[in-house]
Amino acid sequence: MHLQKTADGKTLATLIPGDGIGPECVESARRIIDAAGAKLEWEVRHAGESVFKQGVQSGVPQDTIESIRKTRLVLKGPLGTPVGYGEKSANVTLRKLFETYGNIRPVRELPGVKTPYSGRGIDLVVVRENVEDLYAGIEHMQTPGVAQCLKLISAKGCEKIVRLAFELARAEGRKSVACATKSNIMKFTEGTLKRTFERIAKEYSDIESWHVIIDNACHQLVKKPEQFDVIVTTNMNGDIMSDLTSALVGGLGFAPSANLGNDAAIFEAVHGSAPKYAGKNCINPAAVIGSAIMMLRYIGDFEAANKIENAMLVTWEDGKVMTGDVVGYDKGCTTTGFTDAIIGNLGRTPKNWKVRNYKPINMPKVSSDQAFVKVAKRRTLGFDYFIETSDTPAVIGPKVQAIAEGTPFALKMISNRGTQVFPDKGSLTDCTDQHRCRFIARDKNADVSDADILALIQKASATYRWAHIEKLQEFDGQPGYTKAQGED
Ligand code: NAP
Repeated sequence: MHLQKTADGKTLATLIPGDGIGPECVESARRIIDAAGAKLEWEVRHAGESVFKQGVQSGVPQDTIESIRKTRLVLKGPLGTPVGYGEKSANVTLRKLFETYGNIRPVRELPGVKTPYSGRGIDLVVVRENVEDLYAGIEHMQTPGVAQCLKLISAKGCEKIVRLAFELARAEGRKSVACATKSNIMKFTEGTLKRTFERIAKEYSDIESWHVIIDNACHQLVKKPEQFDVIVTTNMNGDIMSDLTSALVGGLGFAPSANLGNDAAIFEAVHGSAPKYAGKNCINPAAVIGSAIMMLRYIGDFEAANKIENAMLVTWEDGKVMTGDVVGYDKGCTTTGFTDAIIGNLGRTPKNWKVRNYKPINMPKVSSDQAFVKVAKRRTLGFDYFIETSDTPAVIGPKVQAIAEGTPFALKMISNRGTQVFPDKGSLTDCTDQHRCRFIARDKNADVSDADILALIQKASATYRWAHIEKLQEFDGQPGYTKAQGED
C-alpha cells in the first residue's frame, strides 16, 4: 500500500463524482465520512461522460491519472459510457491503468430490506478478476460479418485472484471459497483458473474449497444462496454474477465494491450512472457509502468504518427513512434525507445486526515475472489460418489442399465457427465467410519454422484473403490448442 499523507496526518484520496446519479451518491458518502471523523482529505478529479464530450478519447484525463498515481486511493461515482463518444469504458480504463486486479463485491441480507430471500442470512462476496478475460477489450472484425474478442487469461492473473480470494476469506473470517468457471468448455482460459484454484487451495487448508461450473453457480445462487461464502471467478462471469447477487439482497442500490491492486485501490458501487434518476435526489446512495466503508477498512480506519456501517444498519433497522428502491419511489425518502438519517445515527449500534469482525487483507505477493510459467521444451507443429471466403467448404478444401502440396504442411481440417466442415462429417453448420484452415506439419516430430509458415501464408494468400493466424504449439509435450468440434 502506497498511501499519501497530508501534513496534518490525513490520508489523501482522489474523489471522482462521476456521471448520472454519481455526484449525489458520492456527496452522500463524503458527508457521512466527514461526519464520522475519518481522517481523509479529498482531491476532486473527473472522468467519464463529461470528459468524453471534451474529446478525451479514454474518458480519463491526465490530471485524474496523475492524482491517482499520487494518492493510490480513489472513491468514485459510476461513469457512463455514452454511445457515440469514447469507445472504451472509462471504468475499465481506470481499473486496468492501475492494475486493480481484484474486484471485491460483497452482499449481505440487510435489516428492513425485504426480498424473497429475507431470513436466510445471505452473506457472500464475489471476488472477480478485474483486468483480464474478454474485458481486455481486444476485438477485431475478421470479416465484415464476423467479430472476434480475445479472451486472455494468464496463469499469473489467476494466481493473484485466487490468492486474494483466500486471503480475503481469512481476513473476514469466512469458511469457504468456491471457484466458479466454465472450464468444462474453455479448458485453457477458464481451465487455468480452475487448475490454479485447486493447486492453491491446498495451502489454505483452514478454508473449505470447491469448484462449481458457472451456470450451476448461478442456478445455486438463486436456489440456495446461503450456501456461498466467497466465490472467485473470471472477469465477465463475475460482472454478471455480482449483479445477480446484488438483487438477492435488494438490488444494485445496496451493492458496494472495491477494486484492489498491489499499488492502488478504487472504491465504487457495482451499479452504473442510472441516468433516469440523475438529479432527482431519490436514489439509494448505500452502495457508494458501502464502498466508502470498504475504503476506510482498506486504509486501516476500522473504527470509522464500523461506526458508519452500524449507523446505516440502525437506519434500516429503524425503518423510518427508507429509499424508493425499497419502499417505492412515491413513498421513499430523498437521498439527502437518507444521508442525514445515517449521520444522525452515527454512534448507535443496531439491536439485531452485527458488523463482521474484519482484519486487514494480507495482499498476496505473486512474482511479477513476465514469463510466469517456464517450460523446458516447446515446439510449433502447425498453424491455424483464418480466411475470408464465401466458397463452400467442399470448394475451399481441395483448393487449400493443393496449395499445401510441396510444403512441409498438410491441411488437417477446415472449421467454421469451431465446427469441422471439411472433410465433411455431416454437420449442418450454417457457414459464415470466415473459415479456419488447420495446417499440421507432415513430419509428426517437426518444429516448424516461421519461414515455413510465412511461405505457406504467402502462397495461400494469392487464392484467399486471410484475416488471422494462430500458431499450434506444444509446451512440455502438451498441446497448447484445442480441437474443433468433430475434429479427430
Ligand atoms: P445502472 O446504471 O446500474 O442502472 C440499472 C438499474 O439499477 C436502474 O435503472 C435502477 O433500477 C437500479 N439502480 C442502479 N443504481 C441504483 C441506486 N443507486 N439506487 C436505486 N436503484 C439503482 O445500469 P445501466 O442503466 O445499464 O447503465 C447506465 C450507465 O452506467 C451506462 O453508461 C453504463 O456503461 C454505466 N455503468 C457504469 C458502471 C461503473 O461506473 N462502475 C457500472 C455499470 C454501468 P430500476 O430501474 O429498477 O429502478
